[in-house]
Amino acid sequence: CGIIGYVGSQETDVTSILLDALAKLEYRGYDSAGIAVLNPAGTIELHRQAGKITNLVATVENGTRPGNSTLGIGHTRWATHGRPNESNAHPHPDCTNGIIVVHNGIIENYAELRYELQQDGHSFNSETDSEVLAHLIEHAYYGSAEHDLVLAVRTALQRVTGSYSIGVLSREHPDLLVGARCAGPLIVGLGENEQFLASDIPALLTHTRRILILEEGEIAVLRPTGVQLMTLYGTPIEREPQIIDWDA
Ligand code: GLU
Repeated sequence: CGIIGYVGSQETDVTSILLDALAKLEYRGYDSAGIAVLNPAGTIELHRQAGKITNLVATVENGTRPGNSTLGIGHTRWATHGRPNESNAHPHPDCTNGIIVVHNGIIENYAELRYELQQDGHSFNSETDSEVLAHLIEHAYYGSAEHDLVLAVRTALQRVTGSYSIGVLSREHPDLLVGARCAGPLIVGLGENEQFLASDIPALLTHTRRILILEEGEIAVLRPTGVQLMTLYGTPIEREPQIIDWDA
């Protein structure tokens, strides 16, 4: 599948950025697609559709197209768990629509995590393995008074076995996007007061040529002003960006 994420300092047409990048990522999977954009009122607009990206584009253009924003994520799916329909399409929200996740890969222990979260009161709206990530992060996030999204992602991922690249956002943090990688591709594109998350380099070349490639078990914390890499346990990682001199 394909992942795209955007965080910037000024409100911009995030919807177009996400849809354009998804079209470039469509070769990675195309049974369904979706975007989530934080609107300025502080609510998250979620649009998902079965089929090709053009179906998603039509749904967004004919519906309540999100206004300009600072934050959004998108996904094109290649289903492994659950049919390719709208409710299984990513992004997946948690119970309160406060935390939103896109996922590429397979969560091997999703059934036991899902059971545990259901016992704890979480209700699920899809058949995917991926949705468990949104609830697991929600559990860690709202379980501590700090509402620290990065810590919640790290805590949740320590419970997970399998393969993943993920992108995570919260409606409480308009200036924060979190990425993580374990056995799936994920890169960061560095811009001027804006940063990008993506599954591959060609999806970002119209925006930036300064790229950080995430390695196994790394977390990326993207803010408009810059990007911090760290391990799953919070140890900071320093890495210089690569400058991409080829064209897609
Ligand atoms: N396992 C997830 C699903 O079936 C993600 C698939 C993908 O990588 O697109 O939704």
